[in-house]
Amino acid sequence: MKKLVMIGNGMAGVRTIEEILKLSPNQFEITIFGQEPHPNYNRIKLSNILQGDTSFEEIIINPLNWYKENNIQLFTGEAVTKIDIAAKKVISDQGREVEYDDLIIATGSNSFILPIPGADKIGVTGFRDIKDCEMMIKSAENYKKAVVIGGGLLGLEAARGLLNLGMQVDVVHLIPSLMERQLDPIASSLLKTELESQGMRFLMEKETVEIIGDERVAGLRFKDGSFARADLVVMAIGIKSNTMVAKESGIYVNRGIVVNDFMETSAPNVYAVGECAEHREIVYGLVAPLYEQGKILAERICGKEAAPYEGSVTGTQLKVAGVDLYSAGEIFEDGTTKSIMVYNEYEGIYKRVLVRDNRIVGIVLYGDTKDSTRLFRMLSKKEDITGISIFESQCSAEGGSGDIASMPNDELVCGCNGVTKGAIVEVIKTQGLTTLDQVSHCTNAGRSCGRCKPMVNDILAYTLGDQFDASAAQKTSICGCTTISREELVAEIKEKGLTSLKEVMNVLEWNNEEGCTKCRPAINYYLGMIHMDEYKDDRDSRLVNEKMHANIQKDGTYSVVPRMYGGVTTAADLKKIAEVAEKYEVPLVKLTGGQRIGLFGVKKEDLPSMWEELDMPSGYAYGKTLRTVKTCVGAQFCRYGTQDSMSLGIELEKKFERLDTPHKVKMGVSACPRNCSEAGIKDIGFVGIDGGWEIYVAGNGGVDLRAGDLLATVKTEADVMEMTGAYLQYYRETANYLERTSKWVERVGLEHVKEVLANAETRKELNERMDQTLKKYIEPWNEAIESEEIKDKYYTKHTVKAGE
Ligand SMILES: Cc1cc2nc3c(=O)[nH]c(=O)nc-3n(C[C@H](O)[C@H](O)[C@H](O)COP(=O)(O)OP(=O)(O)OC[C@H]3O[C@@H](n4cnc5c(N)ncnc54)[C@H](O)[C@@H]3O)c2cc1C
Ligand code: SF4
Repeated sequence: MKKLVMIGNGMAGVRTIEEILKLSPNQFEITIFGQEPHPNYNRIKLSNILQGDTSFEEIIINPLNWYKENNIQLFTGEAVTKIDIAAKKVISDQGREVEYDDLIIATGSNSFILPIPGADKIGVTGFRDIKDCEMMIKSAENYKKAVVIGGGLLGLEAARGLLNLGMQVDVVHLIPSLMERQLDPIASSLLKTELESQGMRFLMEKETVEIIGDERVAGLRFKDGSFARADLVVMAIGIKSNTMVAKESGIYVNRGIVVNDFMETSAPNVYAVGECAEHREIVYGLVAPLYEQGKILAERICGKEAAPYEGSVTGTQLKVAGVDLYSAGEIFEDGTTKSIMVYNEYEGIYKRVLVRDNRIVGIVLYGDTKDSTRLFRMLSKKEDITGISIFESQCSAEGGSGDIASMPNDELVCGCNGVTKGAIVEVIKTQGLTTLDQVSHCTNAGRSCGRCKPMVNDILAYTLGDQFDASAAQKTSICGCTTISREELVAEIKEKGLTSLKEVMNVLEWNNEEGCTKCRPAINYYLGMIHMDEYKDDRDSRLVNEKMHANIQKDGTYSVVPRMYGGVTTAADLKKIAEVAEKYEVPLVKLTGGQRIGLFGVKKEDLPSMWEELDMPSGYAYGKTLRTVKTCVGAQFCRYGTQDSMSLGIELEKKFERLDTPHKVKMGVSACPRNCSEAGIKDIGFVGIDGGWEIYVAGNGGVDLRAGDLLATVKTEADVMEMTGAYLQYYRETANYLERTSKWVERVGLEHVKEVLANAETRKELNERMDQTLKKYIEPWNEAIESEEIKDKYYTKHTVKAGE
């Protein structure tokens, strides 16, 4: 078998490998080196992570099992530092040497960081990978003011994300209009007005000359002498191809690694693909052209007849809520072009097409982008537009219907993945597909930026006719390993009596027999929720923090947060915590937002002995479970208190601690409406009133700030416990795994939940199932202390010598 090595485990490279496996699954023994410590993920969706719309698990494109199944040797967190072209081998930063017959360089790009004084201060970052995202999210927890340098696509997406994280955001831009390479001045000014209304502030025509501050950034100084304060600076001024390894190994590099029409570099059997490659003097920075390159490279490397890559025309959109924008091709008129334009200033809709010699050469759409795929096809195919109506969709926010019937079969639907209408119709018909997810899975349409999903749905409706079921079509499968949804999974587990992960995956024909990081924790949760008594938790299927019973920190250490029921502690417990913190030289002891004491920076190997010496239960500060019940001092001490908030908080925490829930659950108890425990922004909040308690639900104090809704007013603590048990159990039984209560209530409707819980018999049954579930939980820290096997497996540092 030939040896194929790839440097870079990113979007373009791994897509090329997928194409190779499709063409010739057994031709190569494949090795991939990835500098990042993750499997291949959808970098495009980093903006969605920052904007709080999705989690990292959800953007993984190829889970680790995919590499295993395809016999790919993957080295993550390991960079290749040299290519020995004469000896045909690569050498990594860990000294590993791997020989190749063919080598693909797919090292992508780095953020371009302005070479100005202070650019290396803490709090200055680019926006390129998950590490940058995590840094921004962390900064937003502690700091208020962000400055984004760069009013282009990435800068504006970063700025929107930081606004969502609660920061004040200034965007600094060198020239007078935003996204000047994609938008003309009218579209650019419409965009600026919209973003200003969302809370973004713009500092236009400013050139940053220095970043100031001590160790951490404190502000920016501009060329005109003015200054902006900043706790966080995001540089989003462009990207720079990552060509270092190639250059240092003697491969010809210009702006990128120079390749011919078959992605061949200057070195024999060495290819380059993606943002690191320069083709006909162009370095592309969007996935659609990179995937085209990958397809051609796969054909070439597999020895198939390949058409040469001749370059691509690209289209751009901005992924910011409330902004509908599309741009492709040329933007500015010259003496040889004419514009076709409509402008509805009232509704903020603007469309302009540039035409040269009866052919579209540029498109700018703002406010209504429904014509984008059709116009883009005309542009890329250089169609003669004589007699053709350019804007089919009306110039109004309602827009046109996007007439699928009149769309030619070769019209591109998914620009990122190059999927046409014809290809989608074909798989729907030949494979009997009925949902968006299934189509995505089969064709890749919608797998990258996701903009084409509404159109794929329209094509489903058009192709299936009467058979089309809109709600079923929108159904999302729980992950890429299956096409079944959460509802179907839960129903199948119950109906077929499935009792283990393996059984679920086998019987329900998972396309990946080991599952992935998305479905394994979810199935484990559903099995535990359904088989209350008999299901044995599969610890290894849990998310890492739950598996370790401690929160992993960004430097790989852990935190220890012992339980303090209702936020109430004793001098004896405080002494123990202090002694343990001192003995284990814990770098940070901090009060958490939930009124607990956290010990941060703990080594994995120290966890069991610290737990043993603390001799306190786990506070579950890491779990999808009841985290904390925050209480005010209440009637015992406060002169305004009408109820005993501390006692109720302690009772609630003692009853529901350790309960597995779809997502974390936080509670708050205040003894009067002054609400010192902030019960209005908790998943469940209790507020004491004269003669009883108000119960608020679905509050959230995080990224999706939401005030709780009044669920019920009850008289006694016993009523509170009964209503809470029923509510929590109903959430456990009907929410999607990883769905917070706020989202769940919005999805199923508060009135529906109230209606269910109004029935005393239903509440009784829910509480019975809750009590049955609660019986089985055991204290996890204690379990680890007592089990050598657990200690050895999870908390011991094993060193493996080379050759073992
Ligand atoms: C926030 C953001 C939003 C985006 N939005 C869009 C969008 O809406 N639409 C769109 O089309 N595109 C978008 N993009 C661009 C798109 O993500 C990139 O074009 C695409 O990821 C490039 O793929 P690649 O494989 O060339 O590089 P990458 O995906 O960057 O992968 C390269 C990988 O190689 C690794 N590597 C580098 N050097 C070495 C080495 N020496 N050894 C081992 N590994 C190495 C890197 O760590 C990296 O993981 C966006 C990008 C970002 C950052
Ligand atoms: S919520 Fe009311 S009772 Fe509780 S501490 Fe505040 S003022 Fe006092």
